[in-house]
Amino acid sequence: MNTPKPTFVRGVARVDDPPFVAGQVAGHRARRLIDAPDAAFTDPFVLMAEDWSPPGLFPFHPHRGIETVTFVIEGSIEHRDSAGFGGVIQAGDAQWMTAGRGVQHEENPPAGTIAHTLQLWVNLPAAGKMVAPRYQDLVASALPVGSKDGVEVRVFSGMYGDMISPTLNHHPVTMLEVRIEAGSVLRHSFAATDNAFVYVLEGAVEIGSAGDLLQASQLGWLTRSEEPGSSELTIGARGTAGRFLLFAGQSLREPIAFGGPFVMNTQAEIQQAFADYRAGRF
Ligand code: FE
Repeated sequence: MNTPKPTFVRGVARVDDPPFVAGQVAGHRARRLIDAPDAAFTDPFVLMAEDWSPPGLFPFHPHRGIETVTFVIEGSIEHRDSAGFGGVIQAGDAQWMTAGRGVQHEENPPAGTIAHTLQLWVNLPAAGKMVAPRYQDLVASALPVGSKDGVEVRVFSGMYGDMISPTLNHHPVTMLEVRIEAGSVLRHSFAATDNAFVYVLEGAVEIGSAGDLLQASQLGWLTRSEEPGSSELTIGARGTAGRFLLFAGQSLREPIAFGGPFVMNTQAEIQQAFADYRAGRF
């Protein structure tokens, strides 16, 4: 007889709050919330940049081997790509772009404005590195949202309770945007082996039974289990309301090779990506 495994209770494994680095152009501020040297720990997430960017910072450039998830915190982002897609991402909305075998795109705020954005790079599994590119505009008002007992959860990707996001994933990733009123608590059950983190957009929250405090602009990596089963995450807001993003996904545990805007499994594949780009095959 199988005895049910006990539920793994999530806590905080590590808090990151990296400093801002000098911008590439006037008016640009940026920091790396997730960065390449840490990829074994952050797997399947390979990078997350927070930018306050003026127009012109990100002209046409290529990607391969990843999906980029852009969430606009303030302002808006106009994007255009080599396949003829284009549009505007507004504050509170996101874009899920599958670079796959290769896209070129530009992503900039309208003239005279500054956009405050998060961009997460989700690694693609080796078998999916060269899939066809795909764009999904995730407009907040069109996504599943549930509100109960002072907690509002919007499902950008994956599922929360019985709410399932229509967002298509090559590698399953949960992305929730949560608003908690002071005195309320979010409860979320998901795979104990998922690698997961919380990024606080506004206010402050307390995580797990220890009530570890996470404040606006801090990123908290959650503890996880090596044993398959379910995990329980509780996030509360005590003195102040909180707004945060939760991301979760299974680690790929594959070799990672970085090369500029490309993320592959080997250096030979990175060299091939540069060669294909130079040859105009994107
Ligand atoms: Fe890009």
